[in-house]
Amino acid sequence: MGKTIAIANQKGGVGKTTTAINLSACIANKGKRVLLIDIDPQGNSTSGLGVERTGLKKSSYDVLVGGVSAVEAIRPTMMQTLDLMPANIDLVGAEVELVSMMARETILKRALEDIKGLYDYIFMDCPPSLGLITLNALTAADKILVPIQCEYYALEGLTQLMSTVKLVRQSLNPALEVEGVVLTMFDGRTNLSLQVVEEVRKFFKNKVYETVIPRNVRLGEAPSYGLPILLYDGKCLGTEAYNELAVEFLTNDMK
Ligand code: ADP
Ligand code: MG
Repeated sequence: MGKTIAIANQKGGVGKTTTAINLSACIANKGKRVLLIDIDPQGNSTSGLGVERTGLKKSSYDVLVGGVSAVEAIRPTMMQTLDLMPANIDLVGAEVELVSMMARETILKRALEDIKGLYDYIFMDCPPSLGLITLNALTAADKILVPIQCEYYALEGLTQLMSTVKLVRQSLNPALEVEGVVLTMFDGRTNLSLQVVEEVRKFFKNKVYETVIPRNVRLGEAPSYGLPILLYDGKCLGTEAYNELAVEFLTNDMK
């Protein structure tokens, strides 16, 4: 049965999408069957994997509010063991449309039941909010993976995120737990980055991955070529870091 992981942090620009694409791709590259679900209306995981956001036949929007099955919305990618459920701007409307729907928080969970057996890992790239779309992801998830940018106010908003996780655990998904916290855009030349690492480790303790993702220009460039980092530049620091994260993730999962 596939393990489902929501990549979430309601702050924008912290590395959710970059982690979603590249962790998925690095794990798929090791032969695991991986599905990446894009549930951010910006569709950056979709374009980052080289899929045109306009003219999509079926997307995560149709699954969330259109009663379409997950299978119908899933498509292959350039990597043999990596599939994608794409998103586009239609998803902006879902946040409002979901409000009046029955059992609105569990739609994604129910949609994934049919396909969980087809994958080893299902990652969900969440939007930068704690609205109904993210709530659907947290309800469908076995675990949450939280990217945190090594920047000022890194921990800001995380108390809110953790209370949301707690609420979801109390009602919709009692088994939800933090899979891990990954520090992103680390700049070893600044004291600030080092301070943030220390602060986050104090707060999340052993939930924080040993692997820290450095700031790397290639990671910023790869999405505009529609490629995961390992296919864009197999030798850069970004590829090395996400490969290491994939190994750490898989090792933790075997414990
Ligand atoms: P989010 O999905 O949380 O909004 P993104 O993954 O889109 O965040 O990252 C925000 C921006 O920072 C993007 O332009 C992305 O390409 C860039 N970025 C993310 N991680 C790195 C990194 N480690 N090094 C350099 N640029 C990065
Ligand atoms: Mg994003």
